[in-house]
Amino acid sequence: MSRSIPWPELWQGYEERTSRTIVGDLTSEVRSYAGGNTGEPDDTISLAIVGAEAARATVDALDHEWALYTPEQAAVLTAALFAQVDAAGIALQRLCRLLAQVEGRGDCAPADRAHELIKAAADDLLSVAPTHAEAVVGELAALPATVTLPSGPHDTIAAVAEILGGSLKARHEPGEQGDDSDGCGCSIELDKDGRPHWVFSRGDSRWYLLVIDEGEPQSDGNVVCTNSIDLDLSDPCPHPEHLAAEVRALL
Ligand SMILES: [Zn+2]
Repeated sequence: MSRSIPWPELWQGYEERTSRTIVGDLTSEVRSYAGGNTGEPDDTISLAIVGAEAARATVDALDHEWALYTPEQAAVLTAALFAQVDAAGIALQRLCRLLAQVEGRGDCAPADRAHELIKAAADDLLSVAPTHAEAVVGELAALPATVTLPSGPHDTIAAVAEILGGSLKARHEPGEQGDDSDGCGCSIELDKDGRPHWVFSRGDSRWYLLVIDEGEPQSDGNVVCTNSIDLDLSDPCPHPEHLAAEVRALL
């Protein structure tokens, strides 16, 4: 990623650069209010609360060891954080304007002190992005990553097999990567007490672990599986060490 890309474009263009739909999924309701399509106090207040909850959830998400894999991802996230600070500053400025209209209608007492305090807070917030965003985001965006993430589901599952020491059961010709949602058809058999006990694979847009039935294999040699456990990780090409850690936690 070039550091010459303006920092707002890093987060604004992320949805187009990813094949996943989570940005649209999370924001579809909020987007219906974009462009001032709000008419009453409950809408305005609720949007601010949703923003605050999203910010708090981001704080919680960043507590996870595998919340980000690369400096490029860190640059996108940081750009979005600076955009939040900037938007909060602009919102406070507009709050001052709105408060003046409330005063003008005679619906509240003169609020000179409140205007003064809100304006000072807005000025502080609006100074953050111009002072720091370009430098911080630019530094992260220019930082070379030393990890090469898998290019498809097959490379992912093959890397996980190597990390976990499992037996990769190939189901296709070399070079094929498979489909993001259905995977590539390959699976990993993992032992317990010296015998195959689990099968790990991908399908229906999920990574899952199956428990092998202790009974006899089928006549074609395939194993029979019982319990299916979904992992809390849907990305078709996550960091293999992350995926392996999630599998290990279930074994
Ligand atoms: Zn495969």
